[in-house]
Amino acid sequence: MTENLAKAPAAGEFRLADAHCDTLTVLSPWRLAFGGGGSQLDLPRLAGRAKLQFMACWLGGGAGLAAAAALRRLWQHILDLRYAAALSGGAEILRDLALAGQGGKVQLLSALEGLDYLADDWRLVDQLYAWGFRSFGLFWNNDSFLGCGAAANQTPGRDGGLTAAGRELVRHLAAAGWLVDLAHASERSFWQAAEILADAGRPLFVSHTCCRALCGHWRNLSDEQLHAIGASGGMVGITLAPQFLRADGRAEAADWARHVTHAVELAGAGRVCLGGDWDGVDILPCGIAGVEDAGALYRALLAASFDADAAAGVMGDDLMAFLRRLGENLRQMS
Ligand SMILES: [Zn+2]
Repeated sequence: MTENLAKAPAAGEFRLADAHCDTLTVLSPWRLAFGGGGSQLDLPRLAGRAKLQFMACWLGGGAGLAAAAALRRLWQHILDLRYAAALSGGAEILRDLALAGQGGKVQLLSALEGLDYLADDWRLVDQLYAWGFRSFGLFWNNDSFLGCGAAANQTPGRDGGLTAAGRELVRHLAAAGWLVDLAHASERSFWQAAEILADAGRPLFVSHTCCRALCGHWRNLSDEQLHAIGASGGMVGITLAPQFLRADGRAEAADWARHVTHAVELAGAGRVCLGGDWDGVDILPCGIAGVEDAGALYRALLAASFDADAAAGVMGDDLMAFLRRLGENLRQMS
């Protein structure tokens, strides 16, 4: 362990690590590097405080995109991230999860969200790993060749879970060392994937969601799901989407802290992080304009009676520790 990792943040400080943003769908690499694009997140605003940021690549819901066209856009995502990192000089792409949180630069982790377009040949996922993608979000809300996405939760009896291809893909991803992200999975898809991941000795990960016990939105997780994530040694990111935080959508930082508190009660300490969904939502909780206001989330945790260490854990340290553990397990495997 490096000195950098061993050093605890000073009181009142935290190192930000965030499990989801869609910023590259709204910004050019130039704007990501230099800011000024009207987004909720960019590299200048991450500098100083942030250590690690998941950068999702979402190509739109529903099928219709041919695999070859999708691959070109996925490769462009990698090129854009590399270009932005090089332009800024203060960021780098994280490929070895065992190095999460190390070094002086902001680490960018490439994440897939929804894979409808690989129906032709999902074995192309091995190529995506070689390019540098590390997190694999099986679903967006719609159904796909892999099974049912979260929208199926809205209609009783409609959730068919994973297809045979979906089950085979999860087994393949677990064996190949991907971080499998179950955000946007339907409830039945979640439980079927959980069983396969448990057999493979892999933790459960949901990058951006909230707690259904506090807000009944169909994208949110049940208490049983939150408990299972904790029991697997996994990690759940609590998101900032106001409609997931409160039924009336009038969310504040305190509402986010309330969901974090509930998730920690179910999943356990060290198992809950921020999954901001920056630039994936049009509106953020009141008083938060973008990632530069992450301090308001930290202060809301302190006000919700987290101590400074536990709050810093939620804001970043626990996600980085989770990734390092996973990365070290993968190293031992290979
Ligand atoms: Zn999403």
